[in-house]
Amino acid sequence: MFYSPFENATNELSKIKEEIAEENLIFSEELACPNCKTRLSDLLETGYVGCAKCYEVFSKELADMIYDFHKSAKHVGKRPEKLVSKAKIQKEIEQLEEQKRDALEREDFLLAQSIKEKISQLRGEL
Ligand SMILES: [Zn+2]
Repeated sequence: MFYSPFENATNELSKIKEEIAEENLIFSEELACPNCKTRLSDLLETGYVGCAKCYEVFSKELADMIYDFHKSAKHVGKRPEKLVSKAKIQKEIEQLEEQKRDALEREDFLLAQSIKEKISQLRGEL
C-alpha cells in the first residue's frame, strides 16, 4: 500500500487538531486511565502520565498536546523513577513533533513523513 505523504501528513495533522479541540471539552471529565486512575485533567495539570497504560489511554491527547504541556508544566513535582526513561523518549518525540511541524510548514512532506515514522517507532518503545 502506498499513501501520498502529502495527503497523509497534512490531513492527519489538521484532523488531530480538530479532534483535540472538540474532545478536550467532552472528555476532560470522563477520560481516565483504568490502571492508575489518572484523568486527562491530571495529565493537563502535571504534564505527566501516571503509568505506561496512560500512553495508550491518552495517546491521541498526548500526541498533540505534549507541546503545550511542556510550556505550561515547568513546575512539575516528583516523578517516579520508572518514568524517567519514558520521559526521555517522550521528550524526543516532542522534538520530532516540532521538526515535523517545521517540515510541514516548509511543505517538505517527505521529511515530515519520515519524521512521522520515527515518532511511531518511539511511541512503540513507551
Ligand atoms: Zn495510567
